[in-house]
Amino acid sequence: MTRFTPENPRSDFSIFTHHADLVYLDSTATTHKPDGVLDAMAAFLKEKNATVHRGIYGLSVEATDRCEHVRQQVKGFINAEKEEEIIFVKGATEAINLVAHSYGKAHVGKGDNIVISHMEHHANIVPWQQIIESEDQLRVCQITDEGELDLEHLKTLIDNQTKIVALTHVSNVLGTVNPIKECISYIREHSSAKILIDGAQAIAHMPVDVQDLDCDFYCFSGHKMYGPTGIGILYGKHDLLLKMPPYQTGGDMIEFVSFEKTTFAKPPARFEAGTPAIVEIIGLGAAIDYIQGITLERLQEIDMELFELANTELQSIPELNLIGTAAHKSPVFSFTIKGIHSHDVGTCMDQEHVAIRVGHHCAQPLMKRFGVPATARMSFACYNTSDDIERAIKALKKTIGFFI
Ligand code: PLP
Repeated sequence: MTRFTPENPRSDFSIFTHHADLVYLDSTATTHKPDGVLDAMAAFLKEKNATVHRGIYGLSVEATDRCEHVRQQVKGFINAEKEEEIIFVKGATEAINLVAHSYGKAHVGKGDNIVISHMEHHANIVPWQQIIESEDQLRVCQITDEGELDLEHLKTLIDNQTKIVALTHVSNVLGTVNPIKECISYIREHSSAKILIDGAQAIAHMPVDVQDLDCDFYCFSGHKMYGPTGIGILYGKHDLLLKMPPYQTGGDMIEFVSFEKTTFAKPPARFEAGTPAIVEIIGLGAAIDYIQGITLERLQEIDMELFELANTELQSIPELNLIGTAAHKSPVFSFTIKGIHSHDVGTCMDQEHVAIRVGHHCAQPLMKRFGVPATARMSFACYNTSDDIERAIKALKKTIGFFI
């Protein structure tokens, strides 16, 4: 059982005892891992290590059961209909590549189009570019100056040649929480396009119900939800997965192999070639236990408190230009400071032990949209406190005072 402390989640994370002075504001890039997750992974390796599938001996059977149990947990966590709809992948990037190269390559032909938005992470841009023949097949939904999807523009992009719509649930730069349910129902009414939602920045912050959303694919990464790196999930509707060709081939994904012909296993095995990331799967299961122990309601409450405080403090700094002021936002704040390069902001903050991210955040088209080469970004998770915000604002003001 993963230990959790809803009233003081910070105490669940040993990283802060090793770095008592650390103000960590880069959870959008990766979250820290609670001790319960680390312990579950270490215990598996120390006490139970074995590979999964086809094992006839006890440890292997147990390892297989543990991994399949995590598949069940994920199914429940996102309310998928069937466990066969849950595919273990490396992360959101691999999930999107899988859909692009499997479903996309088989269904997007000459004259067809794929719709994405201007706020996508490179992981939800580049894989689609790889499977189209001409650049006009990729249609990009504009965003407003506040950083919200321009829904009227989205409607003009969808037609009967639209084969895929791939949208982020929450922007990793702007913090915008997109109205994806509304988008999905419009797309369903007006086309037969398949819909992929990139949930990398949503999954640790809000309940996700894939049946209620009615998306075809939903993906996320374990390391952004208090779990380990190297593991993520692709959810896909079962009837679609059944018809999709494999993305990678080799061991574990076959039904029968001969030199003349190979037949493939049914999903999810068809999409899980090779030995899976067993210990990371165990870690992902413990991370879900952790989130469910704290509860998503409590996590949202913490997000809201941190958001309100950070938003007020940041907006009160005259030199600061906040990029992304959508009405519905996650606690992610990207900004520039007049006259100071974002990298200098990051370096100075680091001297005060405040860890923020600077750069293009794997969203170069979005940087271009706002006319900046880079931004500084603060992002929050359940272990952050009002003290962290106070220290970050102090460090930011000191930085501004130093340069201006
Ligand atoms: N999508 C979004 C919105 C992200 O923020 C990220 C990572 O920052 C990704 C996709 C890619 O995730 P990963 O690198 O874990 O595959």
